[in-house]
Amino acid sequence: MNKYEVVIGLEIHAQLKTVSKMFCTCNNDSVEAGPNKNTCSVCLGMPGMLPVPNKKAIEWTYLLGLALGGKIAERWNFERKNYFYPDLPKAYQITSATCPPVIGGSLKVVTGTGEQEIRIHHIHLEEDAGKLVHVSGGKYSLVDLNRAGTPLMEIVTEPDLRSPKEASIFLQNLRAILRYLGISDANMEQGNMRCDANISLRPVGQKEYGTRAEIKNINSFKMVEKAIEFEINRQGELLDAGETVKQETRGWDDNQGKTLPQRSKEEANDYRYFPEPDLPPISKVGKNAIDLEMVKSWLPELPKEKATRFESEYGLTVQEAETITGDLDTARYFEQILEEFEEAASDTEIMKAKAKRVSNWLLSELIAKLNVDGVTISETKISHTDFAALIELIDGGEISGKIAKEVFAEMFANGKKPGEIIKDRGLVQISDMGALESIVTEVIVANEKSVSDFREGNQRALGFLVGQIMAKTQGQANPKMVNEILKEKLK
Ligand code: ADP
Ligand code: MG
Ligand code: ZN
Repeated sequence: MNKYEVVIGLEIHAQLKTVSKMFCTCNNDSVEAGPNKNTCSVCLGMPGMLPVPNKKAIEWTYLLGLALGGKIAERWNFERKNYFYPDLPKAYQITSATCPPVIGGSLKVVTGTGEQEIRIHHIHLEEDAGKLVHVSGGKYSLVDLNRAGTPLMEIVTEPDLRSPKEASIFLQNLRAILRYLGISDANMEQGNMRCDANISLRPVGQKEYGTRAEIKNINSFKMVEKAIEFEINRQGELLDAGETVKQETRGWDDNQGKTLPQRSKEEANDYRYFPEPDLPPISKVGKNAIDLEMVKSWLPELPKEKATRFESEYGLTVQEAETITGDLDTARYFEQILEEFEEAASDTEIMKAKAKRVSNWLLSELIAKLNVDGVTISETKISHTDFAALIELIDGGEISGKIAKEVFAEMFANGKKPGEIIKDRGLVQISDMGALESIVTEVIVANEKSVSDFREGNQRALGFLVGQIMAKTQGQANPKMVNEILKEKLK
């Protein structure tokens, strides 16, 4: 038994993919621009410039709030968080952390140990800072303000997470929701979703939380798990030795595989928050209020709902449904393939059989290959039409499962149509009764010993004979027919 219970709370930043920045009309996509090209006097922090809030960013924050079952604040406001850093020219960040637009909500997380409801403390909206570029070997750093003023949503959870795995699954579920809503690319590796993890331990049975460390610089789901795992061990060893955990901010060093101290509570900033004097408070009702009914109408079918529907409509297992709906592109691809089966549309049983087959091929063959190549499903060369055609060829008995795998590999590699590949390579299954009968006869004659073994009740001998026939036909014999003919002849 573990002596300590792990307590984790996450603070997640998600960059909103609005067209323009949070408080100015600058382009919010700086990938193509050179350094400091996507800037104006507002996001450069020139004195006296007035910010204008991006309505879409507020609507999208409300949208996420609604998706997570949170409450939209009756009245909230932007505020200034004051600190100096070279990537923040106006020496304050406009945020809404202490009087946030969305309060509460939750997200259910399913792990091997069961389902857990993770409460959301609040969601707030703020602007990002710029970037410092440290020149290697140089005695100076460069400042790039393209990112300054980019809209960020911060989602803060209650300390309800209890394991590294739970934290990582929570993040993956949240990412799926952000993508379903179409409001953020939520890509941790690319930095448009970032996460700080707060971790503490407490003796099992104790009610009060222990002292926490906050871990920054986590850039992938894997790192989330590794960093939390490391912290659990570090804090556990301290407590075992009778020492105390210091409340501090630590950074994850992926090369060393450990967290290192950054700043302690004593050195913590005093941000001197105060309401942003250049922006009026925002009310839920009133003449300039956001139309909440309109925002509500934007809510799409969310991952959990889609998974439940996939289970009932297509007969998928919980596991299959969750994996497929965990990524919107995968879910779309799956349904596009199913739309190709016209005769299945009116018959739920046929549809379920097709869905099961598509799910098997998608999860085992396609995803495995995508992972090997490190590409996403939207980049696959296999069109949904060709995917469906392959399933029809298998179901129609034209190719065996074994040959289908070869065909699939070629479809994946060069995007050719399954019919073409089969024709070009002469892979059509041998389903000709006469041809099969003569091959079966040949094998029976050549394997007297196995034949007599089978007749004496050794079932394994039958498997051997089938194997011989399949080998003789390079796997192209229809296995069902081979079995039938063989059993008939051995009677
Ligand atoms: P701050 O804004 O200073 O980081 P908050 O009190 O707002 O502090 O907490 C931030 C995050 O830390 C939240 O996600 C919260 O759930 C989590 N948290 C707070 N106390 C603990 C604790 N003792 N152990 C683990 N996580 C904690
Ligand atoms: Mg914090
Ligand atoms: Zn600007």
